[in-house]
Amino acid sequence: MSIMPRAGLGVFEGYHSAQVEAKVRLNTNESPFPPPPELLSRWQEGVVELSLNRYPDRSAVALRAAIAKFHQVSQDMVFVANGSNEVIQTILLSFGTSGARAVSFEPTYAMYETIARVTNTSYSALERLDDFTISTQTLARDLTDLNPDVTFVCAPNNPTGVAEDSSTIDLLGSEAPGLVVIDEAYGQFSPISQVGRTLKFDNIAVVRTFSKIWSLAGMRIGYCIAPAPIVDILWKVALPYHLDSSKQLLATLCFDYIAEMEERVAFLIAQRIQLELALGELGIQYWPSSANFILFRPQGVDAADLWRRLLDKGVLIRDWSKWPRLANCLRVTVGTQSENDYFLEALTHSLNEMSASW
Ligand code: PMP
Repeated sequence: MSIMPRAGLGVFEGYHSAQVEAKVRLNTNESPFPPPPELLSRWQEGVVELSLNRYPDRSAVALRAAIAKFHQVSQDMVFVANGSNEVIQTILLSFGTSGARAVSFEPTYAMYETIARVTNTSYSALERLDDFTISTQTLARDLTDLNPDVTFVCAPNNPTGVAEDSSTIDLLGSEAPGLVVIDEAYGQFSPISQVGRTLKFDNIAVVRTFSKIWSLAGMRIGYCIAPAPIVDILWKVALPYHLDSSKQLLATLCFDYIAEMEERVAFLIAQRIQLELALGELGIQYWPSSANFILFRPQGVDAADLWRRLLDKGVLIRDWSKWPRLANCLRVTVGTQSENDYFLEALTHSLNEMSASW
């Protein structure tokens, strides 16, 4: 083809997690539960009442008020978009692009690099320690050397599940030369949240999503809590009317179901602990998780082969084994009790098959 993408995009792979049919899908860290039925019926009733011939509320006032109340911040500290990926993209369109640099701590969520590339922002990776935490020893020096405009910290980190100490976030807030973005896509599963830091530091933003605990991955809603001057810029950069009326309504209604959401979080954390125990009993190395997934490294077997055998038995998990720093690693999302049982059974059978074929 003679029409080429713009310079810098190069041979571009984009983001992909296998979307194949499987009986048990534990590969993309969604909630295994649908939204509460009452929430859905109230939303359906409300959608009929919306004036769909009119543009939506451009600044999503009701939704921002609900988010602000939930996090005990003011409304001018809330930006909302179509999924947290779009929030990240808006951040890089605002504070990145040509001549600017983004940094994150690898291994981590690959979209920071991908979106940096799409927005023509330079990207540099800093290495996490062996336990996958961020090195506070070298942090100040690394940030001085790289001088990033935007520093991304995924906490708890995807795909490792490891949380970050608040002291590390404080260090970032005081040492990073530009904006520090704490991605809390899995924040509710962790005992630590950094939302409070957005009131203390003028350069910290926290990104959250409705795709995980709110059971709305299919609806694409995410948001950011940040000091008002930062949020102001994000609203200027976002397209007008980018968040449709039905989505605004649904996300606003969610906050009437906080107790249901918290119950599910508690359930998934309990299931995660069970899964970690079971992996330990199978002699599998795993990283204790503060999220709704577990990264593990089977010893003595090829992880890609194990992944395929699990899929043959109807279980789809995520294969990270070919990624830098994640040799032979797989990641499983915590599902319902029966999905987790099914996964463990398939895992045990697969390992038995593999040891029999030695
Ligand atoms: N951040 C992290 C760390 C994620 O894992 C994901 C989803 N996989 C996202 C952001 C994007 O979430 P969404 O766009 O669905 O809100």
